[in-house]
Amino acid sequence: MLSKILSKNSCAACKFCCSFRRQSLWETPLFPPEVVEKLSRNNEYGVVGEFREVQNAYRLVLENNYCTDDPEEEVPCTFLDPQKGCILKGEDKPFDCSIWPLRIMNKDGELVIALTPTCPSIGATPQPELIELVKNGLGEKIFEYAKTHPYIIKEYREGFPIIL
Ligand code: SF4
Repeated sequence: MLSKILSKNSCAACKFCCSFRRQSLWETPLFPPEVVEKLSRNNEYGVVGEFREVQNAYRLVLENNYCTDDPEEEVPCTFLDPQKGCILKGEDKPFDCSIWPLRIMNKDGELVIALTPTCPSIGATPQPELIELVKNGLGEKIFEYAKTHPYIIKEYREGFPIIL
């Protein structure tokens, strides 16, 4: 959804948002039940995920994959291929992943679209192209999706610049 400003090649080469330190586990992707049904047993991708139910959705379980106590250790998403990037087709990829580094957040009871400030490609400050994209349709699309999939709404965090 951000392909106008974020090339697939740079995402494939980076993979920052597909690996998680323990303190980032709140960001692991949330999958809808119908996709979990498919991905939690033998499937076309040849990779079976482990999921835990949270708020009518399912969070990918990665907690058991750490090898050390180092808080900086990162574990990759189960569906990340180190060479090819995400192996999931568009219809199976979590909405959260397709809008990264944007997030819909609840700030004092109001829904906002904010930027996760750690994406190495987009940077910590929303640039004009990103703001335009969000204000000219993408933001509305995210608000609409959140109406039927409220589990994608996260609590607001300090340091996430609000775009809309
Ligand atoms: S589902 Fe795909 S895009 Fe999302 S974190 Fe996993 S590998 Fe990355």
